[in-house]
Amino acid sequence: MSATPYEPPEGRAVFCNRTLNMRSIQAIGFDMDYTLVHYDVRAWEARAYAHVQQRLLAKGLPVGDLRFDPDLFARGLIVDLELGNIVKANRFGWVTQAAHGTALLSHDEQRKAYAQVWVDLSEKRWVFLNTLFSLSEACLYGQLVELRDRGLLGKLDYRGLYQLVGETMDAAHLEGELKAEIIAAPERFVMLDPDLPRALLDLRHAGKKLFLATNSEWHYTEPMMRYAFDRYLVGAGWRSLFDLVITQSRKPSFFDGNRPFFDVDEQAEHPPVTAALRPDRVYRHGNAEAVQQHFGLPGEDILYVGDHVYADVHVSSQIRRWRTALVLRELEDEVLQERQFADRQGQLAALMAEKQTLEQEQATLRLAVQRSKHGEPLPSAVTLSVPAIHERLRALREQGDALDQRLQPLVKAAGELGHRRFGPLLRAGSDKSRLARQIERHADVYTSRVSNLLWLTPFGYLRAARGSLPHDARQGSG
Ligand code: IMP
Ligand code: MG
Repeated sequence: MSATPYEPPEGRAVFCNRTLNMRSIQAIGFDMDYTLVHYDVRAWEARAYAHVQQRLLAKGLPVGDLRFDPDLFARGLIVDLELGNIVKANRFGWVTQAAHGTALLSHDEQRKAYAQVWVDLSEKRWVFLNTLFSLSEACLYGQLVELRDRGLLGKLDYRGLYQLVGETMDAAHLEGELKAEIIAAPERFVMLDPDLPRALLDLRHAGKKLFLATNSEWHYTEPMMRYAFDRYLVGAGWRSLFDLVITQSRKPSFFDGNRPFFDVDEQAEHPPVTAALRPDRVYRHGNAEAVQQHFGLPGEDILYVGDHVYADVHVSSQIRRWRTALVLRELEDEVLQERQFADRQGQLAALMAEKQTLEQEQATLRLAVQRSKHGEPLPSAVTLSVPAIHERLRALREQGDALDQRLQPLVKAAGELGHRRFGPLLRAGSDKSRLARQIERHADVYTSRVSNLLWLTPFGYLRAARGSLPHDARQGSG
């Protein structure tokens, strides 16, 4: 793509899996946490981790010395509840990397564990890490697996351990203390984005209905939205951007359930709302079908933007046929890193092509040796005598070793782009990752943050790329 002044800065593009014409989108729904309001993962997840740790300590678990490490795991990895591992899989579900506890498995250990097994997310064995909220949970789980292996956690098995971490994390998110800390000092947790209110205003001025559908409670939603937006909206509050505000939406079941709406200002036992939904009220619960009816729109005219691969994007697209945008903040750095690596990626591809050519010659010459042993005619491409073939094979072996020496540091560096241990978010080895597969199936578009819609504009037209197939170019020649 040629760079014009109209293109977004590096890493801020909206990437397209399925053609999306913004002009045909009539309503846009937004998730809040890690979508409209982006948190400093190190700060937010450290507090979530600390709250869970305190709760486990209170239960008598020996977790006092553990520390949160935000870099151990990444979104899109998968917990293996049977073996206590956290793995990366490619789009077919083959495991390409694995850690037991917090330590990466060697290639042999990994092969032993997974040569006969592939990740099928419909099985209860596997838990997909869907959001950045998963990072504290995964870190603690890995650390607890290690304590368990040292015999410090009694009879809990790996599945039970995960349940314990999950339930304790749920409790930490639901009770007031963790969120009260965030509300008290949003400047420590929320990463401001001055482009964001402008992007939403553009959409609104283009006549699109905007709505918020967050799983957070109103008492948390209000201060977060106010902190993130109001400073940039002169003379108006964030509420002026939205035609509908829904809290505690209980996604994913929001998308296929039929729970009624409640007014947040009413007492808990107050009957559900039966009147038309209003922009000046705030609602709890509700369901996506009713949102569609409220706006009088078919699913394909609604775009929902969220960061949770399953609850925001998978279900809304599959059940409601809404158009979907996934927010992947990690992608921004990764795209920049990949761009800086482009020259070396080119070298890597050239060396791999050389290796491929060399291996093809080696294979043909080996076949020639085999044929000569059986007194059969040599492959027609081989014109060398048998002793010369052996000589050539020796030379090819040396060349191959030399190539591998040059390839090794490049392959290592390519595997550390994005994430030091698990590599690029959307790649697994030379293939697409399981996360990339989820995204291409369920997210029409993906982007690093909502404010990237500024460059897409309310009038933009994103077309899906043609996509590549193995036969497009013979490896090594294209
Ligand atoms: P949303 O992304 O705006 O829909 O809101 C996400 C909500 O889910 C926030 O209120 C989080 O505190 C909450 N949340 C995130 N992870 C967990 C979890 O593991 N257990 C329970 N609640 C969670
Ligand atoms: Mg979210």
